[in-house]
Order: sequence, then structure tokens, then C-alpha cells
Amino acid sequence: MIARVRTEHLRSLAAPAALLLSVLIIVLISFANSPGRHNKAGGSPAAAAPPAKAGTTPAPPAKPVYLTFDDGPEPKYTPQILAILRTFEAKATFFEVGRNVEKHPDLTKRIHADGHSVQNHTWTHADLRLLSWPKFEEQVSDTDRAIQAQTAVTPRCVRPPYGAVNKLVQTRATGLGKKLTLWDVDSRDWTRPGAAAITKRVLAGVKPGTVILFHDGGGDRTQTIAALPTILKTLRARGYSFVAVC
Ligand SMILES: [Zn+2]
Repeated sequence: MIARVRTEHLRSLAAPAALLLSVLIIVLISFANSPGRHNKAGGSPAAAAPPAKAGTTPAPPAKPVYLTFDDGPEPKYTPQILAILRTFEAKATFFEVGRNVEKHPDLTKRIHADGHSVQNHTWTHADLRLLSWPKFEEQVSDTDRAIQAQTAVTPRCVRPPYGAVNKLVQTRATGLGKKLTLWDVDSRDWTRPGAAAITKRVLAGVKPGTVILFHDGGGDRTQTIAALPTILKTLRARGYSFVAVC
């Protein structure tokens, strides 16, 4: 009985409420379309509200992956890697050995010009744990200067050769304003296990935000170059974006 009364009561209210709502919607629509509103903004609706994509600071990708290449620059292999990265519109980070930068400055310049990040991998590929402070400082700062001369950018990151870190290395790097950058997935391309093994290892290990270690210098990198297109194609199909670190 109570339920029926309430239903009828609601029904009697429904018609005027619907009418009121319709009037409200019409008023809102005519206000939104009024020419005066757009004129106030000083231009067309498009000019007043540009599409989000036109912004200068795009949102970070949902699934980033960080490709890193160590031990270059190397005149035979680095250009081939750059060509593959260009094909896939992929950005990467190159941790360069200072004395190689000194030998091949144009390559460093080219890597930077292609939009990649060039970072510090010490001057002679030294084990940073074994150095006195003056030698440590020299290894890092000389490499900084060589890279800076070609890119006009001072590296913010150091990748310790062999991944050799301890507390002292950490403290000294921080003292120089550097971030030590290791990796999550080692392609182990330097062991030359074959392109298929490199591809399999990398693809099995990648998650969003993974840093992958490859090499463009320090030895024969034919297998790395053979593996890269499949790796990039597969990761792209899985929705990953290739972003530089540092
Ligand atoms: Zn290295």
C-alpha cells in the first residue's frame, strides 16, 4: 500500500520534473553555442582549445622500455644500430667510453643529432672500485668533457663498467652529481650466443620500465645487429615505446 502511494506520488512529480530538465538543457545548449562566448576567447573554438596532442609536453608512454648500448662509439657497428633505431623510431641511450669518443667524435655527434641520449661509461672502461679518488674523478670528468664537446650536453648518468659498484663508488658518483645507471635485462650479446638467443633472452625479460643492456662497441656486434629488428618489432607489437634514459 505504501509502495503504491509512493509510486503514484513519484509519477505525479515526474512530468513537471522532466519539463524542467528539458528547459534547462535547452538553455545550456543555447548558451554554449552563443557566438559571444567564442568571440570573448578571441578566435575560433579550435584556437581557444587546441587538441591535446599539439602540446609540447606529451604524457609519458604507458609502457616504456629503455634500450642501452655500451662501449662505443664504434665506426662499424654504431651506424648500423642507428639505422635500425631510426627505422623503428626508437630512442636509446649510449653509454660511451671516453677514449672512443675521442677517436670517433663525429659518431657521438651523430648519435646525439639522431635524438638519442649520450652518457658516461668512463674513459678507459675502468673498474671504478679499484681507483683512487683522483683517478676516479679523471675517468668520469674527462669522458664528460669529450661528450660535452660533441653534444653540448653534460652526461648526468654514469654506467659503471662491468656493473662494478660498491658504497664508495656510489658516494663518489653522487659527489660528482652523477646517477649510477645499471640495467634490468642483460642481453649478454657480448658472449655472442647467436642472434636467436639474444632475442629470446631479451623478449623473455622485458616488462614496462625495463632497462636492457646491449653493446655497440668492444667487439664483434654482428649478432646484436641481427637480433635488434626482431626485438624492436616484437616489443612494438606488444605496445612498448622506446625511450632514452638520463
Ligand atoms: Zn662496458
